[in-house]
Amino acid sequence: MEIEDIRWKVVEIPLKKPFRIALGTTTVYRGVIVEVCTQELCGIGEASPSPRITGDTVGSITAALEIARKVLIGKDALDVGARMNDLEGTIRGNTAAKAAIDFALHDILGKRAKMPLYRILGGERKKIDTSLTVSIGSVEDTIKHAGELLEAGAKVLKVKIGLDPEEDVERIRALRNITDARIRVDANQGYSLKRAIKVLRRIERYEIEFAEQPIPAERIDDLEILRKSTEIPVFADESVHRSSDVLRLIGKVDGINIKMMKSGGIREATRMISIARAAGMKVMVGCMIETKVGITAGTHFALGMGADYADLDGYWDLKENPYEGVVYDDGYNVLPEAPGLGIKSPGN
Ligand SMILES: [Mg+2]
Repeated sequence: MEIEDIRWKVVEIPLKKPFRIALGTTTVYRGVIVEVCTQELCGIGEASPSPRITGDTVGSITAALEIARKVLIGKDALDVGARMNDLEGTIRGNTAAKAAIDFALHDILGKRAKMPLYRILGGERKKIDTSLTVSIGSVEDTIKHAGELLEAGAKVLKVKIGLDPEEDVERIRALRNITDARIRVDANQGYSLKRAIKVLRRIERYEIEFAEQPIPAERIDDLEILRKSTEIPVFADESVHRSSDVLRLIGKVDGINIKMMKSGGIREATRMISIARAAGMKVMVGCMIETKVGITAGTHFALGMGADYADLDGYWDLKENPYEGVVYDDGYNVLPEAPGLGIKSPGN
């Protein structure tokens, strides 16, 4: 099945409310929806730019896709591994664009096999519980935002922290007062080691499931010190992009957050999960702000590979969801039973 065309469009969707984390505030999502087409069928994918995490921007993504067109058109779409090797051999980095192509090729594979992707990957369940994210704000904002998410069915909350230690402790305390839901925290590198130890020790009593990336990404050895200083399991996110990063983190963290936009898609993410599993680390599959195209692909991966946790709520903050895919039901992301990724584009 020869690839005949690769095309894309930039989507711009306002967020329901400003999304504030330790790395900055976002009000509008701009991402790139990609289609890879053969004569018989098309596959869909998404590239979500995160300049401060992967270095990708909308401009760099579309430039990389121009190169992908030159390298991939005329070649067999069903040979996913070979096509990703073609890309790896031509473009360094640019993981968001690679993820989009990787999703689209897997979508074609699934459509051709007439099977949903998670089943091709070996998964047996079609739904996974996902956390919903509470952004940084005052204690009152936190309670209000969390209240809305709990109302919507959230069983797990991921609370963004990392700017103000005193306020963070107060927010978690207040939140634990109103709910028995599972709570994770994510500082997005916001603390120094000293502050992270202090904050995590003070919130241990509130039964925190784990703490994501409390300290800067490059402080790998400090992650190990932090891990030994608190009862709360420590997970790496910004410190781990690809499989070589997982190797460096063995023994230093309790778990890793795999994101398709960091790994460059399902293929590299599969290597990451294999290493993590063999090393006894827990695995969460996470996301950036993404439409249901990217989130559905991430959910197929999480269920196909049997991830321990999911944080796949990137579409939740968007004012509109033009693409249909996963459905959020009582705390779970539920996959469509359609072939491939099972995405429905607007107007289709
Ligand atoms: Mg994170």
